[in-house]
Amino acid sequence: MHERRINPPPVIFEDDRTSVTTEGLKRAFYDHLFYTQGKFPEIAGLGDYYQALAHAVRDRTLQRWISSVADHTATAPKTVAYLSAEFLMGPHMGNNLINLGIYDTVKKAVQEIGLDLNELLRQEEEPGLGNGGLGRLAACFIDSLATAEIPAFGYGIRYEYGIFYQTIMDGWQVENTDKWLRHGNPWEIQRAEWAVEVKLGGHTEQYQDDLGRLHVRWAPEKTVAGVPFDSPIVGYKVTTTNTLRLWRAEATEAFDFSQFNRGDYLGAVDKKVTSENLTKALYPNDETVQGKELRLEQQYFFVSCSLQDMLRIHKARGMEPDTFDQKFAIQLNDTHPAIAVAELMRLLIDDNMMPWDQAWGITTRTFSYTNHTLLPEALERWPLDLFKRILPRHLEIIYEINARFLNDVRIKFLGDDSRLARLSLIDESGERYVRMAHLACVGSHTINGVAELHSELLKQDVLKDFYEMWPEKFTNVTNGVTPRRWMVLSNPRLTKLVSETIGEGWITDLPQLSKLEPHAEDSAFRDSWRAIKRANKVDLAALILRRTGVAVSPDSMFDVLVKRIHEYKRQHLAVLHIITLYHRLKSGRSAYTLPRTFIFGGKAAPGYTMAKLMIKLINAVGDVVNNDRDVHDLLKVVFLPNFNVTYGQCVYPGADLSEQISLAGKEASGTGNMKFAMNGALTIGTMDGANIEIRDQVKAENFFLFGHTASEVHDIKASGYRPRDIYEVNAELRAVVDLIQTGFFSRGDTDVFKPIVDNLLDHDPYLLLADYQSYIDCQDVVSDTYREADTWARMSILNSARSGKFSSDRSIAEYAKNIWKVEAVPITLKPEKELYMRNGIR
Ligand SMILES: *Cc1c(COP(=O)(O)O)cnc(C)c1O
Repeated sequence: MHERRINPPPVIFEDDRTSVTTEGLKRAFYDHLFYTQGKFPEIAGLGDYYQALAHAVRDRTLQRWISSVADHTATAPKTVAYLSAEFLMGPHMGNNLINLGIYDTVKKAVQEIGLDLNELLRQEEEPGLGNGGLGRLAACFIDSLATAEIPAFGYGIRYEYGIFYQTIMDGWQVENTDKWLRHGNPWEIQRAEWAVEVKLGGHTEQYQDDLGRLHVRWAPEKTVAGVPFDSPIVGYKVTTTNTLRLWRAEATEAFDFSQFNRGDYLGAVDKKVTSENLTKALYPNDETVQGKELRLEQQYFFVSCSLQDMLRIHKARGMEPDTFDQKFAIQLNDTHPAIAVAELMRLLIDDNMMPWDQAWGITTRTFSYTNHTLLPEALERWPLDLFKRILPRHLEIIYEINARFLNDVRIKFLGDDSRLARLSLIDESGERYVRMAHLACVGSHTINGVAELHSELLKQDVLKDFYEMWPEKFTNVTNGVTPRRWMVLSNPRLTKLVSETIGEGWITDLPQLSKLEPHAEDSAFRDSWRAIKRANKVDLAALILRRTGVAVSPDSMFDVLVKRIHEYKRQHLAVLHIITLYHRLKSGRSAYTLPRTFIFGGKAAPGYTMAKLMIKLINAVGDVVNNDRDVHDLLKVVFLPNFNVTYGQCVYPGADLSEQISLAGKEASGTGNMKFAMNGALTIGTMDGANIEIRDQVKAENFFLFGHTASEVHDIKASGYRPRDIYEVNAELRAVVDLIQTGFFSRGDTDVFKPIVDNLLDHDPYLLLADYQSYIDCQDVVSDTYREADTWARMSILNSARSGKFSSDRSIAEYAKNIWKVEAVPITLKPEKELYMRNGIR
């Protein structure tokens, strides 16, 4: 405890200064415009007004945030650390207004000032610190953790540049840098005093301590400083406010003085710049990994910073490292942070002089690991030489972990040498690699997949040997999404109707949506439901017009496919359907087609040529179809550029049909599918990921199922799949593929789409042709059903009413009870005066 005490505040501090009345909020807004932005209305712009409001709102999180930290510091409850290289948060302001329960008051205050809240909300640059589903899951999870009042940190990287900004030029994706910090980030607080040092490179040396015991010292080639930036994560209508702590790399010394003194000024500055490069940019990977040195450094950097931070907190709470596992549960969000297993061992053994066995016990009781993929090319592994160059001490520790582990394997499966090779942490089949998933499995007490099917396939396939070694470690936690952002914030019209109908309990207890079921039979309710969907479609149509210049009709069916562009997700299958409809119209084969608007969105990894070509194909088909008078506006195809959380908030609520058409056995879970269903879109989908559980919940008659199952896919591949045979016998498919092949969508250029066509006809690894007819037939049923507006509305209501399972609150409750063994710690809001006077707390 500190010796120093400061005097209690004067009487003026009697009242809480962060009042949430309209008058209090207005006062705060003007104060921040003046004192934070240093502006007056005549010279201020919308950006200044946004900043002023954001600071006023952040101030309103602080009493809760500090109350939470004060209680957590005093009672040292078991705390979750969610380690994730990505947090795809989306804009903070709207969500904070919802969770603080001050949305309407702030709207009114802003109105009285003479501004429009929606216009201010649009000023926020979203922190795109993630690629897609995995990063968004982390964001949903920390919202649910706070709402469940569980003490938790989100630990990650404060990338200066997030996921690239996508534009479309001549139909092709163009990547631009994402300068999200351009105008500063009003939501974060820099904590320079909690900076830590991270070592990289160099070599190790042995030494003896005074008692003659042998230890290892790591003499690094360089060190970088990790500086934490904290943002408050406010729980929904509770006091609990947790911390998202993101690390930024800086030079340990502003200048290398020896170099400086030798006169090499720029060389010294250069070193500083090199350190800062570490957290410069997010890698835009999508289900593939490249063994890039800087990426390994990023991963190790944020993991080391976070573990050092946890140990600091643990010690500050008066505890020794030997109780670390009783106070921290660390979740590894995929293998990006898996190096944490070796790093915690290093910190305990080398820095805290703990014996190996004790350290290993603590480590394996602390970590649990979430696997996110079934694609072999997405399993992270690092070339051994590279690994050794950057993390020489960790490689030694990994060798020791491996030796002990393989010994256990040898005893359990005697004489099974090939099993040893398969399980080893080191891949020695060719060039040698460190296998990060293996490190995560060995170092964790629990391993989970993210949907029932995915968890089963992990046991049968990807992690089969680990399952046979430790069946008790394996479990499933189906993903979920937060209803606060994905319904309350993004679909206020639906929120109002639902709350008026069944009360507000559903917002934190989503299964209560089932109370809507009887209302599906109420025609007035169906009319209201339909009117809301239409209004949301008008909003989406306006966004599309603004961003693409294409006018689409809200009276057409909005058929939506938004997600990262990847062959396994099969955006090109949806394109084959569009061309099929187009071909039918042109050849007079259908007298009437339902008006449909096909809405695509998603980024392709910059190095993923086939994915970028798929974007070009979508736009090329759109160019032809949208401008063909024969089509009479029955078909429209748009590609909404730069799909992100902000656009998602408009897209999911405005969809009629949710396309979830990945090849069965490839999509781990999906979370977009859940956002669509809870907002009343019907799904056309395969038996893949969480689609299966969505169909279970909403019932088969309210779900459009097509395609082969995962086990059928397995058999088809095993028996020698020949896509060209399907092309030869299916005349409609042949006509469709031929249109692409003969350059119909590329002004006669037969080269541009050749890679797609050749791949489909000769390899088709994702079985588009095998699923084609089933998909087309299913889409015909979709059209027939949509024509029955009343039937569709009933099904839409039931989809939403039965999506209660897919709240991330349920996922978090499962992790908390079954994996982390943590409990809610309700926080009482303390008067500001009392918090100011808390002395002696470090
Ligand atoms: C939900 C979400 C995703 C994940 O979508 P899937 O359909 O599950 O792949 C990706 N990007 C953004 C911006 C999202 O909001």
